[in-house]
Amino acid sequence: MQPLENTPTADAVGPRNFYSFTLENLEAYLKQYGKEKFRAQQIFKWVYEQRVTDFDQMLNLSKDLRAELKNLITFDLPPVLKHLISVDGTQKFLFDVRDGNSIEAVVIPSDDRLTLCVSSEIGCNMGCHFCFTGKQKLKRRLSTEEIVGQFMIVQDSLKKTNQKISNIVFMGMGEPLDNCEAVFGSIEVIHSPWGVNLSRKKITVSTSGLIPEMYRVADAKVRLAVSLNGYNDEVRSEVMPINKKYPLKDLLEECKRYYKATGERITMEYVLLKGITDQISHAKELVRLLKDVPCKINLIPFNEHPGSGFERPSDETVQAFHTEAMRLGAQVLLRRTMGRDIFAACGQLATKVKVDHPERMDISNSKIGGTNVRSFSRGQPSV
Ligand code: SF4
Repeated sequence: MQPLENTPTADAVGPRNFYSFTLENLEAYLKQYGKEKFRAQQIFKWVYEQRVTDFDQMLNLSKDLRAELKNLITFDLPPVLKHLISVDGTQKFLFDVRDGNSIEAVVIPSDDRLTLCVSSEIGCNMGCHFCFTGKQKLKRRLSTEEIVGQFMIVQDSLKKTNQKISNIVFMGMGEPLDNCEAVFGSIEVIHSPWGVNLSRKKITVSTSGLIPEMYRVADAKVRLAVSLNGYNDEVRSEVMPINKKYPLKDLLEECKRYYKATGERITMEYVLLKGITDQISHAKELVRLLKDVPCKINLIPFNEHPGSGFERPSDETVQAFHTEAMRLGAQVLLRRTMGRDIFAACGQLATKVKVDHPERMDISNSKIGGTNVRSFSRGQPSV
């Protein structure tokens, strides 16, 4: 296991946040204070199995040890500023991550799963032109505890209604592979038996195509989603500047390497932009482009937001694109959109605590074929 860059040490001033620790980190941290290794395991069991975060309730620890641990470890999580529930059951949580910044996590229910979409950064430097988050330059990368914290807070909230998160996708605000230490640190906590204990197959990392870091998704043995959004380099570069640095040929080669290493097909997220990526001829080119890449395609009709400069295709155009891609043999999904009445769309998330009621944005054109279509700019959590 690779040590985390932000491994807490005794040299650091003040108590450390528990949710930043792997088991190994906590063992090492406690060792510096002369504590036995097994104490770390005991604390992990209390927190992740029993959801006990008060040392006074950890009765298999001595009174003296509990008093000492209170000075070494905190269980602070980002406060929830808003919790909105859509008519369709989608839930949005807005967290205060200090300095006037906020992040969002979204819970999306479907027949057989409850998927949590988490943020990895405040803002994003990738600058994808169709994405509202991309207009908000990177302010800060989230820490491991802020990512694990999103999971724990949402999970605790869902418990009240006997619900449980079944899947987690890194598709919220930010480019996950631009924050590898915290993202893969949080994944370790989330999948490990001593942590949340969620199967790796239920964890998906989505990237805009940061090729040098994509091997880490395979190494972590979690699923890969790629925000594709273009059927050739010219178009993709137009909507995603990262394509100029890492063009499609290299990106798809890396995808094949991922498949070879894991045997898992990739999810390709494809935003339908009116007149740019939504034509029948584009569907043909897209299927041709991906013919050698083991993948499925998620179609995401664009949801307009102020100043985007892009338009949403008509319902008929979307249907025609979908039909053509299927006719050509691609596995292509047009997912039901959820949560639009609370503006719970990835890529349209605000970084300011004082949000001008984004949940009241116009959602009047949100129907496709009589079904709501979700407005993820980076794809839907359907992987
Ligand atoms: S789509 Fe993703 S990678 Fe691109 S700007 Fe938005 S958050 Fe960043």
